[in-house]
Amino acid sequence: MKIRRYGSGNSFKRIYLVAPRHPENFWSMQGTAALLGASTLMPNAALPTLMALTPPGINVEYALCDENISDLDWNMPCDLVVITGTTLHKKRIHELCDGFRNNGVKVALGGAYASINHDQCTHLADYHFIGEAEYTWPVFLQQWTKECARPVYHQKTYVDLKDSPAPDWSLIDVNDYININVQTSRGCPNHCEFCDVIQYVGKKPRTKSAEQVMLEVRNAHALGARTVFFSDDNFLANKVFTEKLLGAIIAWNKVQTRPLSFSTQITVEIADDEKLLQMCADARFSVLFLGVETVRRESLEEVKKYHNLKFDIFERVNRISRYGIMPFLGMIVGFDHDDESVFAEIEDFITCTSSPIAGISLLNAPRNTPLYKRLEKENRLIGDDFSGEWQLNTNIIPKQLSREVLLKHYCELFKKIYDPERFHARLLGWLRQMEYHSDLYSHKKFDPKQFFQGARMIRYFLFRAKPPERKIFFKTLIETGKTNPRLLRRAFSFLAQYHHFYDFVHTKLPERI
Ligand code: SF4
Repeated sequence: MKIRRYGSGNSFKRIYLVAPRHPENFWSMQGTAALLGASTLMPNAALPTLMALTPPGINVEYALCDENISDLDWNMPCDLVVITGTTLHKKRIHELCDGFRNNGVKVALGGAYASINHDQCTHLADYHFIGEAEYTWPVFLQQWTKECARPVYHQKTYVDLKDSPAPDWSLIDVNDYININVQTSRGCPNHCEFCDVIQYVGKKPRTKSAEQVMLEVRNAHALGARTVFFSDDNFLANKVFTEKLLGAIIAWNKVQTRPLSFSTQITVEIADDEKLLQMCADARFSVLFLGVETVRRESLEEVKKYHNLKFDIFERVNRISRYGIMPFLGMIVGFDHDDESVFAEIEDFITCTSSPIAGISLLNAPRNTPLYKRLEKENRLIGDDFSGEWQLNTNIIPKQLSREVLLKHYCELFKKIYDPERFHARLLGWLRQMEYHSDLYSHKKFDPKQFFQGARMIRYFLFRAKPPERKIFFKTLIETGKTNPRLLRRAFSFLAQYHHFYDFVHTKLPERI
């Protein structure tokens, strides 16, 4: 067990940081991680950020357990256990808090779940952090080490991200993760009715400085990361900053012999600015997660997602693809305007845009969102059991469909779009529509890590994959190699992602319904 000490002297209080395990779900990318020899998608950045927030003069030592990587030690000798997670981790957070407290260990709980649902977390932990922790954690440490800590630390205003330090990654092994995450901003100016993010981090975009972000990017590179995920909710929330940051990333990345690839979540408005789009391509963004949600205008109006209405969504998605950036489409079904015909419309959209990858979610109403309040008035909520997963379950009584019919069509749609032949056709179609190839990285050196990951994939598909998946893997590589060999690396990357979706649809989906 690695330990990281802060302070000096002979006496250190020990803090056990615990990142709860993710439930098996569509977004976890477990299948891809296993295929590439990693354990999970990305680390919990909140806990290493708490470490970096330790004030001078405080003698503490940290141990870290990411339950997605290693088993928890319930008997870890420590003075405090710190747990943080999202609504997705709700069940496990409760188990962890109860388990450690039953063992007589003090527990501190914070993060998105404990903040958004703070009324459900009262008495769950000895120390309850509500809101962002940049200012409260150092105060807590000073008080706790003097044995005068309070039970609740409530950050009522939004913090200045210039005060948010680079996470201390010294307790993680980068090889356990597909991505290292870097947050550049918090807050989003949009008004999507179902969004719980803005309930937690607010509507006013706040950014770190470009220098802060570049320090974190360089740290990730020095750790040995190959891909960085910008874990913003909307990377375009402050367009002026986004452009400045992209310029800094390009200037740094293009002179690396082992340049990084990037991905992030962003609104479809990125497609409306070709200059920014080209900058994303030049910075080496490979995937953009887009909240497209639906192709029905009435549904977008219904949930106040007005920024998706401005221009033609087909053209926006195709334009992103033409720059060689994979649009990862976030689609939702279960809006009030959805009837049985919406599933075919979404399928057509995914097919016509040749988008290989799409996540289909069921509309849910997270607590405290405008959607939750509206549906509560309409008596259309089933408890408040939003799981944080957006998959396979909804806490909403749909307007035009029964829950059973909604779930049936939803599962059928998932199966159709991840049918091997259909995926293969879309992937080849997507590779063919690429028009822009940045020439900034022609000096890129051979990367042994990526070579071994590729070899590992070939071995898996030769000897262990199910026949339909094996066929698609080799067929795609052969056809890509014949038509455009420079795209082989991209094809490998998307086939690795497909492995997770294939696995999810063919093994996890039937188990869960
Ligand atoms: S654009 Fe995304 S982050 Fe912003 S309000 Fe809508 S769902 Fe939330």
